Amino acid sequence: MPMDRDASHSGHSDDSDAPLLGVRGCLIDTPHLGRLRERKDTAILIENGRIVDIGAYNLLHKKASSKARWLHNARAAIFPGLIDLHSHLPQYPAVAKGRSELLPWLRQTVFPLEREFGEAKARKESMAFFRELARHGTTTAMLYGSVNEAACEAAFEAAEKSGLRVIMGMLMMDIASYGASQPKKVMSIALLESERLCEKWHGARAGMLEYAFSPRFAVSCSEKLMKGAAELAAKHSAFLQMHLAENFEELEKVKNQFSWAADYADVYDKCGLLTPRTVLSHCIHLSDREMDVVAASGARVAHCPTANLFLGSGVMPMEKMHDRGIPIGLGSGVGAGTELNLWQVMRSAIESQKMRSYYDGDARVPSPAEVFYMATQGAAEVLGKENMIGSLDVGKDADFIVVDYGAFLPYRKTARQQRDELSAEDLLSLCIYRGGPHGTMETFVRGNSVYRAAEPDLF
Ligand SMILES: [Zn+2]
Repeated sequence: MPMDRDASHSGHSDDSDAPLLGVRGCLIDTPHLGRLRERKDTAILIENGRIVDIGAYNLLHKKASSKARWLHNARAAIFPGLIDLHSHLPQYPAVAKGRSELLPWLRQTVFPLEREFGEAKARKESMAFFRELARHGTTTAMLYGSVNEAACEAAFEAAEKSGLRVIMGMLMMDIASYGASQPKKVMSIALLESERLCEKWHGARAGMLEYAFSPRFAVSCSEKLMKGAAELAAKHSAFLQMHLAENFEELEKVKNQFSWAADYADVYDKCGLLTPRTVLSHCIHLSDREMDVVAASGARVAHCPTANLFLGSGVMPMEKMHDRGIPIGLGSGVGAGTELNLWQVMRSAIESQKMRSYYDGDARVPSPAEVFYMATQGAAEVLGKENMIGSLDVGKDADFIVVDYGAFLPYRKTARQQRDELSAEDLLSLCIYRGGPHGTMETFVRGNSVYRAAEPDLF
């Protein structure tokens, strides 16, 4: 088969109803931490949303040619879909705004936005938000909504239409409020509304949508609310998500509010919030004891380096989590994080540990393959989905992205020649240091195309 017949981006054969989809490219993934796997000129065969075969393109094409429609070509890079473990849907318009630390930034920049994020706004913005995720190569996202139930409902409807894999929850807080014009949400109402949303959406669309009970952080939640959230999550086998130990002022407030607790992690632990279905974001300023508690509980961590640097919150001691066996993935941390681009979050995860290594001899600088693991297979493990997504293997769901990495090379005209000189490590490094939505050609979730570049420009 001459390459150019399949080389056009659209590349569909006439038989568009074929049950099999074949995608050709150079496969790069990390099924194990730190181990990069490259499979050149390889084909993935997809049936009913699952990867049913992977092998040398020439062989698979011969075997399945008449039964499949084929997309892409040997020059495309194929990665597992990226997984964003922490982001706030209503906050996206606020990215890169504000010059203060966490608590004043929340009051000044975030609360006004979340207050206005009612049903109408959610209907308007959510579809665009999910499209942005897909354009950035994100196929799974764990998200917070606002405190408004109808807005969360609208956001779930948009998530359903987007085709992405989404775990989301209504933000819960009964101590803080969005300001004088909007009264605090009473604890019992927050629990009732959250459960209603969970009952409707947890497991919807054949498991593509799931619910996360979402008490924002201990500063804005009563003990009763947190305990109630933990009970509901257990009752429905749903996820839990909270922020933990992001900022010093936050730590001080928690200490004053919960004088009965040994420390911040103890507040969540005593409220029953630390479980293997819990994703804790940030976790920058945890004591050794607290990290032991998190590890023993089976809870997981969303590392958000771009957000941590933007708000000047600090640098998470990544190796201390790894050494305790705490599963860690990456989060864009939007809107404290300045972009949904997980390639840049990976870059930041490397660079922030590099900077830390100048003043902390314990710091270990992760390799590109290690941070890539944290955005794919490692993040899948955080969600308990390591056998479903995260790498390109037969039997897994077909969540992957097709990337024109020529878009990241300095001189596009000589890109093809440069490609021949790139090792898998070079190629991944190129994506991490220069990658972004301009290189995303197509994004697939469970075998369905959820984003396709308007004018593909494969080198
Ligand atoms: Zn957050």
